[in-house]
Amino acid sequence: MSQTRILVTGGAGFIGSHYVRTLLGPLGPDDVSVTVLDAFTYAAKRASLDEVAGSPRFRLVVGDICDASVVEPLMAEHDQVVHFAAESHVDRSLSSSAEFVRTNVLGTQVLLDAALRHGIRTFVHVSTDEVYGSIESGSCSEEKSVDPNSPYAASKAASDLLALVYHRSHGMDVRVTRCSNNYGHHQFPEKIIPLFVTRLLKGEKVPLYGDGLNVRDWLHIDDHVRGIELVRTRGRAGEIYNIGGGTELTNRQLTERLLEACGAGPGQIEYVTDRKGHDRRYSVDWTKIHTELGYKPQKDFTEGLDETVAWYRAHRDWWETATETTAESATGPAPDHGATTGTGA
Ligand code: NAD
Repeated sequence: MSQTRILVTGGAGFIGSHYVRTLLGPLGPDDVSVTVLDAFTYAAKRASLDEVAGSPRFRLVVGDICDASVVEPLMAEHDQVVHFAAESHVDRSLSSSAEFVRTNVLGTQVLLDAALRHGIRTFVHVSTDEVYGSIESGSCSEEKSVDPNSPYAASKAASDLLALVYHRSHGMDVRVTRCSNNYGHHQFPEKIIPLFVTRLLKGEKVPLYGDGLNVRDWLHIDDHVRGIELVRTRGRAGEIYNIGGGTELTNRQLTERLLEACGAGPGQIEYVTDRKGHDRRYSVDWTKIHTELGYKPQKDFTEGLDETVAWYRAHRDWWETATETTAESATGPAPDHGATTGTGA
């Protein structure tokens, strides 16, 4: 059987590693092989790929998506790209945006250019609902223009538009997904759910931004990965697909659920000064992916959250240890940065 060779960038991060574990797991397609290209920033975890490390259909390359000398030969060996690699934390982008522009914009451009040169069949660009900006009521369809409010969101909007332009200008088969806030196991403890859970498990307080009334739509990683697979296998070239989770909560409501799941009381909440330019509400309309590709979120939020908390309880070693730097196939050093303690979703 001929295999589709998929290059997964950022495959050692939260969503990318889940995508790879799913593709190469018992329920995944057996006609794909996967190469992960990841620079192993602070957000990557070697252990997140342990489950698939022994698979003959898996390969790991440690390298930077901005480095054309790494990207170029890899493109020549692959049929499809699923592009997750990014600097992904809004708070970090507010204190320093250079790395966000470099990785998210320049890195995407390097990948697109090489993909075009080597005739990559399908390029799935994983973007975010944050490109639409804040919406007070209703939901953003794919028609809405981008209106980002943070350096992170602006860098994602730039890369997302660049990806779409490779379809318009060059006819490349590029498909863009824009998803809401993901949650689940294996997420680096800087975004609100893993940060709050790990703090509560250590008996520490949790810092809640502003009045805690910012609204996010929560999407379980299993649902997100199913949505991406639908887009990769059955989506249309040049199209954008919103992927939503179906559970809107204020950060305060979310925090109350987390306190309960971790057996902590309201005294553990510490209200802190709001994030600069903090978007009040994100909401995507996912009618298109539902009607065209049959997507519907399946994970019950309470169940998903309980499972997530249970996973962090059982895997202290995963989140307490520093990022590992070893890999089977290293094309460069794997930097090991410290964690910050942002509070944003
Ligand atoms: P993450 O921060 O957990 O992982 C990012 C991965 O990219 C890491 O493994 C990191 O080492 C790698 N990386 C960073 N810079 C790189 C570079 N220059 N070269 C190669 N690899 C590099 O992020 P995530 O939460 O898994 O997000 C994955 C994608 O999904 C991102 O593009 C993000 O913008 C998007 N997204 C995430 C969410 C969410 O809720 N987490 C929501 C919407 C969209």
